[in-house]
Amino acid sequence: MTFATLGLIEPLLRSLETLGYQTPTPVQAQAIPAVLAGRDLMAAAQTGTGKTAGFALPLLQLLAMEGPKVTANSVRALILVPTRELAEQVHEAVRQYAENLPLSTYAVYGGVSINPQMMKLRKGVDLLVATPGRLLDLFRQNALKFNQLQTLVLDEADRMLDLGFSEELGNIYKALPKKRQTLLFSATFSDAIRTLAGQMLNDPLSIEVSPRNVAANTVKQWVVTVDKKRKPELFIHLLRKGKWKQVLVFAKTRNGVDALVEKLQGLGINADGIHGDKPQATRQRALDRFKSSEVQILVATDVAARGLDIEDLPLVVNFDLPIVAEDYIHRIGRTGRAGATGQAISLVCADEVNLLSAIETLTRQTLPRQMEHDFEPEHRVPDTDASGQVVKKPKKPKKPKTSSSGKRNLGKWVESGEASAPEPSIKPVRKVPVFNTGPRKRKP
Ligand code: AMP
Repeated sequence: MTFATLGLIEPLLRSLETLGYQTPTPVQAQAIPAVLAGRDLMAAAQTGTGKTAGFALPLLQLLAMEGPKVTANSVRALILVPTRELAEQVHEAVRQYAENLPLSTYAVYGGVSINPQMMKLRKGVDLLVATPGRLLDLFRQNALKFNQLQTLVLDEADRMLDLGFSEELGNIYKALPKKRQTLLFSATFSDAIRTLAGQMLNDPLSIEVSPRNVAANTVKQWVVTVDKKRKPELFIHLLRKGKWKQVLVFAKTRNGVDALVEKLQGLGINADGIHGDKPQATRQRALDRFKSSEVQILVATDVAARGLDIEDLPLVVNFDLPIVAEDYIHRIGRTGRAGATGQAISLVCADEVNLLSAIETLTRQTLPRQMEHDFEPEHRVPDTDASGQVVKKPKKPKKPKTSSSGKRNLGKWVESGEASAPEPSIKPVRKVPVFNTGPRKRKP
């Protein structure tokens, strides 16, 4: 199969040739003809599967072939994305695909001055990439009209909901023309997303190119167990031992990012950090320097987890596990993209066992564990498996005591009925419920 057989026009085929895309990826093979035929889409695609081209190529073709010329302050196609970085990245991809077409494209997002964006929108743009908050600001200030809107794309829709954009999405939805094409893309699909899809989509074609909620199988994943306080030391040890060249590291909090970057820089290691407290320009600069290998280690909060496309990124390290299990898939999706192989290592301490269990349940796999010599944890990380149970092993039983009735307390597993035995040497074992990570209700 080629892009030409999917029905793409020659100016797009030329752009793809320049970019070196030879064969459509599975999501592209399914999405492109459907979008060209005017269908609404609900697409579950893994990160790194080429979904951006899957919606952008046919969208650009429709804009070039159909519809009126764009008028002042109008947009003809809107791509909504959850983060500023993703807005830049999707726009960059769109710009490259549209290279040979007479279409205007632009990206708007918060964290930067709104005035240049208002100026730019005056003439109208054919295709606008936007984050929801800034889009609404522009709309409310009359810098944007939706009367010409033909197509709406919701990219990383689940993430938009996770980030609390559901009210913004509702308000945008109310402002859009009812007659339009809508494409909903998401790496993971929750019940909330399906509800959103029910409201926004009209007889959508469902595309599912990969098993739901499974990370790319080209990514080798494992866990190194360690005590919390020794994580920085272990990271530095692994970095040196593995001679890591380029690594994206995820930490839970902004302070965590800053502390690790400071520690690494203090040791003369070439590291930088990005998180939501940093100005947009600083974040973009750090990312660009990391992409061009000027920076060896980029430490980030989950703001950087979505959609970032870093060519040939070999390694992602979860310095802390994410609070929301779905974020694990997005984080490790930064490596192993477009069929390349990658590695994802998670440093896990005993406190994080429920988070680990939730990830294993979601991805339906038990992550292999390793311990690093000299870093064996004092606080053991309880066993977990993909069934969603944390298996709490009891402490080693002391020498069995003999009860007054002469019955010996034999077990690790003391049933509640036996609790009347005098002074049982160990407590009953309880299976601990898994940390609930979101609206998805999954049976173990
Ligand atoms: P995405 O999942 O849209 O973020 O794309 C992941 C990466 O795959 C990007 O670097 C794209 O440029 C690249 N890519 C997308 N489609 C193709 C294709 N058909 N052939 C080669 N590379 C592709």
